[in-house]
Amino acid sequence: MTGLLLDPPDRFDLETEVAIVGAGGCGLTAALAAREAGAEVWLFERDRVPRGSTAMSSGMIPAAGTRFQRARAIEDDPERFAADILAKNGGATDRRIVDTLARAAGPTVEWLVDRFGLPLDLVEGFLYPGHSRPRMHAPPDRSGAELVGGLLRAVEEHGAGLVCEARVDALLVERKADGGIARVRGLRVERRDGRLETVGAAAVVLACCGYGGAPDLVRRFVPEMAEAPYHGHAGNQGDALRWGEALGAALADLGAYQGHAGLAVPHEVLITWAIVMEGGVQVDATGRRFADETRGYSEQAALVRARPGGVAWILFDEARHRLALSFEDYRRALEAGAIRSAPDPAGLAAVTGLPAEALEETVAEVQKLARTGGTDRFGRCFAGKAPLAPPYRAVKVTGALFHTQGGLVVDTEARVLRPDGSPIAGLFAGGGAARGVSGPGAGGYLSGNGLLSAIVLGRIAGARAAEARRGPAPGCGA
Ligand SMILES: Cc1cc2nc3c(=O)[nH]c(=O)nc-3n(C[C@H](O)[C@H](O)[C@H](O)COP(=O)(O)OP(=O)(O)OC[C@H]3O[C@@H](n4cnc5c(N)ncnc54)[C@H](O)[C@@H]3O)c2cc1C
Repeated sequence: MTGLLLDPPDRFDLETEVAIVGAGGCGLTAALAAREAGAEVWLFERDRVPRGSTAMSSGMIPAAGTRFQRARAIEDDPERFAADILAKNGGATDRRIVDTLARAAGPTVEWLVDRFGLPLDLVEGFLYPGHSRPRMHAPPDRSGAELVGGLLRAVEEHGAGLVCEARVDALLVERKADGGIARVRGLRVERRDGRLETVGAAAVVLACCGYGGAPDLVRRFVPEMAEAPYHGHAGNQGDALRWGEALGAALADLGAYQGHAGLAVPHEVLITWAIVMEGGVQVDATGRRFADETRGYSEQAALVRARPGGVAWILFDEARHRLALSFEDYRRALEAGAIRSAPDPAGLAAVTGLPAEALEETVAEVQKLARTGGTDRFGRCFAGKAPLAPPYRAVKVTGALFHTQGGLVVDTEARVLRPDGSPIAGLFAGGGAARGVSGPGAGGYLSGNGLLSAIVLGRIAGARAAEARRGPAPGCGA
C-alpha cells in the first residue's frame, strides 16, 4: 500500500457523515448504531460480497445478564463476565475496556434481537474454556454466515449505504501547521475498475480487522504462527495497523492472537471445541496426550504445531459427536469425510493410522479419569464428564491462526488514541482493527473475545462516530 495518508481534495467525490471501512461484524454493527443515531452512513468493503472473518466464525457472542440467560435461570452479570476475561488474560489488558464491553454486551445482544430481528439465542450444553457461565449467544446454525446475513439485511433496511469491491487505500487527513495530524477527514477507495474516489466524512470507523492475512505482519508480530495455516478472512491485511503507524497512533498487544487447535486437515473446517470441553482429548502421532486441552483452544494451537508433523487427533465418541452436530461447521466436516469412526480403540487405530497400543492405553486412561472424576498429570480434571463410550470417533486437526487481537489503542468510546492518550479527531476503531481484551499473547483469548470486540465495540464506535459529526463540544478544541 502506498500513500497511506493523503491531503483532502478541494472537492470530494462523495460526502457523508460516517464512513466505515470494512463490512464484517464490526462495520455492520457500527453502521446500525450510527443510523440509529440519525447519521448518514456509508460502508466500504473490499470484497464483492461482505463476509469477513465474522462469516467464518461460529457466530458466538458472549454476553452476561441477558433475558435469554434469565429465561434459563442462569445467574450471570457483567462483573462476573469481566472477571472471567481478566482471569484468562492475567489482567494484562485495559480494564476499563473490559468493564465497558462486559456491561454493554448484554444490551447489545438484546438490541440486535429486538430492534433488528437477529435470531440470537443462548447456547447451552457446554462451557467454553474460562467461562464460568453459559453466556454465548448465537444464531440457530451456530454460524457466523447467518449472523452476517442478519446484519446485512438490517443495514439495508435501515438505510446505510454499502459499496462493495471498494478497497480503502488511504485515509484523508487534515494537518496542523507543524505537520501533525489535526483530524481524519475521510478516505479514498479503489473501485473494481481501478478508479480512485475520495470520500469526505466527519468520522471514519476502522472496521477492517487485523493482520492475519498479511504474512509480513504475522512474521513480524506473531512469529510462532508464521508457518501455521491462516483460517481467517484473507482480505484482512493489516490496513488499520499500517494507517495507525503512519498516523502515530498508539498500538498495543501486537503479538496477541486467536489460535485454534481444531482445524480439520486437509479439509480446513473448524471442529468445535465443545467436543473437547465435554470430555474429548487430543493425542499426537504417538497416540499419547500432551497437554490440558481445556486451558483453551487458542494457546493449544501452537502446542499442536510443535507436535510431530504439526498435527494432532481429537478423540471422542458418539455422545460428543451428537453434541457437535448442532454446529454447521461440524456437519460440513462430517460430510467431507473428516470424522473417522470405529467400534473400539483397535479399530480407531486402524482408521487413523495411530499406534494401536498407545491409543488403547490413552482411551482406557481417559475413561478411568472420567469414571473416577480424576485429574490427569497435566492438571485437567474430568469430574462430571461421561466416560468415552463406543462407537469412538476421531478427527485429524492442526493448529491455525484465526485472527490477530492486537491493534489500535482505543478508549471506552472507541476513539483511536495517540501514545499520550489524546484522541485522533474523527477516527474510531473496533473489532480486529482495535486492541482487543486478550492481553499480549495467545493464552489470554477467552472464547468470544473476537465478536465481543467486533459487535459490542462496533456498536459503540458507530454511535460515537455519529455524535462526532456534530463537531467537538464548545471549549473542547479541535
Ligand atoms: C473460523 C473462525 C471462527 C471464529 N469463531 C468465533 C466465535 O464464535 N466467536 C467469537 O467471538 N469470535 C470468533 N472468531 C473471531 C471473530 O470472527 C473475529 O474476531 C471477528 O469476526 C472480527 O470482526 P471484524 O468485523 O473486526 O472483522 P471481519 O469480520 O473480518 O471484517 C473485516 C472486513 O473488512 C474488510 N476489509 C479489510 N481491509 C479493507 C480495506 N482496506 N478496505 C475495505 N474493506 C476492507 C474485509 O474484507 C472484511 O470484510 C472466529 C474466527 C474464525 C476465523
